[in-house]
Amino acid sequence: MKANLTVHTQSHDYPIVITSQCDLAKEVAPYIKGKQVMVVTNTTVEKLYLQALVEGLQADFEVLTVVLPDGEQYKTQQYIDQIYDALMDNHCSRDVTLIALGGGVVGDMTGFAAASFMRGVNFIQIPTTLLSQVDSSVGGKTGINHPKGKNMIGAFWQPQMVLADMHTLTTLPQRELSAGMAEVIKYALIMDADFLTWLEDNMSALMSLDKVVLAEAVARCCQYKADIVAQDERESGKRALLNFGHTFGHVIETHEGYGKWLHGEAVAAGMVQAAQLSQKMGWISEADVQRISKVLQAAQLPIKPPAIDTQIALDLMQHDKKVKSGQIRLILLKSVGEAVVTADFDQSLLEAVLTETL
Ligand code: NAD
Ligand code: MG
Repeated sequence: MKANLTVHTQSHDYPIVITSQCDLAKEVAPYIKGKQVMVVTNTTVEKLYLQALVEGLQADFEVLTVVLPDGEQYKTQQYIDQIYDALMDNHCSRDVTLIALGGGVVGDMTGFAAASFMRGVNFIQIPTTLLSQVDSSVGGKTGINHPKGKNMIGAFWQPQMVLADMHTLTTLPQRELSAGMAEVIKYALIMDADFLTWLEDNMSALMSLDKVVLAEAVARCCQYKADIVAQDERESGKRALLNFGHTFGHVIETHEGYGKWLHGEAVAAGMVQAAQLSQKMGWISEADVQRISKVLQAAQLPIKPPAIDTQIALDLMQHDKKVKSGQIRLILLKSVGEAVVTADFDQSLLEAVLTETL
């Protein structure tokens, strides 16, 4: 099984190739322009997929590798410097192609190194987590964390291609698979009620890593994101809908300390809260909220946040990136499959949702 879709952006169009199992080197080779290639990965993914990729590319290219430590805490300037150092030490020219082999952390870092080295060189994404396949590898956001804030330093920089091979997901820890599934379910909730029905029917196949069903889910999600990015590359409007569940999730992540809850887990519980508020607004039904909880549970995701004092939660919400002139803006559901960004919700209903979870 192989699917091909195209992302349209202001700089250039590029393909997302989705396979159930492939020779990674063969698939990416046509998109490499010069002779030099630098593969960036981390210590976990290195052991699983680096050797085959490097060996496959070596026949045609000079292949360099950079292996970063594994973890969000290394998504920093210090470790970007390791990539720059390797590029400089090996006399890489403007024709070098960087390849990100790994999850969202490796993808964001490699993309940012590509955006900034010599004012921009080509790069290719080979996302190896479900989250990176359906979310971070598509859309051109790249970057690193600052000690005072996540993803605060970055650039928009589009890859030459994205290769998502379902086979790589077979080694993913179950919690990471579930965390990625939260973002998959998110697309259904904000974009397409039929896709939600499809997910309900196929969740057990997805969770047991049926590669054909996974490829279809990834292709659909990439298409939704590509459509949104084509309309709003720099997040001035529609792209914000992708943050459904994220303001509530952000409260959980910050309150619990990053790392305890995976991002996707916090988003899952956050989406239930956003759904509850949408229900209190009279937009969706109690049965819809139950349905949303049920599909998240089928993906082995949490549906209830930890106990957080309501005032503390409200304060944390104020620090969200979507806050404009002190007004909290939330993504809510008008119906299942249709989301809106709004500051026009009843504060007491928001407080009721936050308090109910105590
Ligand atoms: P991650 O990159 O940390 O990967 C999760 C874990 O899985 C890591 O331990 C990793 O080593 C391991 N792993 C990766 N592939 C594997 C495989 N095939 N088999 C076994 N283990 C594997 O996390 P993530 O969830 O992929 O990405 C999260 C990052 O993505 C965050 O830094 C976030 O800010 C970023 N992000 C960026 C965007 C964007 O638009 N650029 C969007 C969403 C998230
Ligand atoms: Mg997210």
